Amino acid sequence: MKGIYIGLGSNLSDPIAQIDSAITALDAINNISVVISSSRYASPPMGPQDQPDYINAVVEVETSLSPHELLDKLQQIEQEQGRIRLRHWGERTIDLDLLVYANETLADERLTVPHPGVASREFVLYPLAEIAPNLSIPTLASMEILLQQCPINQLKRLS
Ligand code: ATP
Ligand code: MG
Ligand code: MG
Repeated sequence: MKGIYIGLGSNLSDPIAQIDSAITALDAINNISVVISSSRYASPPMGPQDQPDYINAVVEVETSLSPHELLDKLQQIEQEQGRIRLRHWGERTIDLDLLVYANETLADERLTVPHPGVASREFVLYPLAEIAPNLSIPTLASMEILLQQCPINQLKRLS
């Protein structure tokens, strides 16, 4: 299935290389292919302010894995890239969030899809809109309206 989008973020240990490694690792997994990748973006941290700025990107993948199986793989890559959870929204080598899984909606202890931050986070919405300008996201407004409601504040697209 296509129409599955993953958000990546990093602000430790060469963030651009962390994002590149995670995309390569995703594509190397059986049953996951990366279809398209956004530009890289830079933005200030969302949580504690005493941490480095972030690099973010969004990729579309095609996969036969279920949402929970996909989350397992995302968390495996986070582990392999040395993710350590020290504090909520704190610094990290890599964060891989399942943003959208086609037309599915789900919410349980492990997984909420669409990811609750999609509409409000410029570092998620703009990279997503770059690769999927006409995307219709379950439960949310059209991409055009979402962008209007989330004007660019501090986000910078890297060339
Ligand atoms: P946020 O989810 O607000 O971006 P975060 O990415 O820093 O915060 P993590 O520490 O990476 O949060 O993940 C915390 C938990 O969120 C994970 O253990 C996972 O089970 C859960 N989770 C729920 N929905 C999702 C999702 N759509 N994608 C990834 N993780 C999710
Ligand atoms: Mg996150
Ligand atoms: Mg996460």
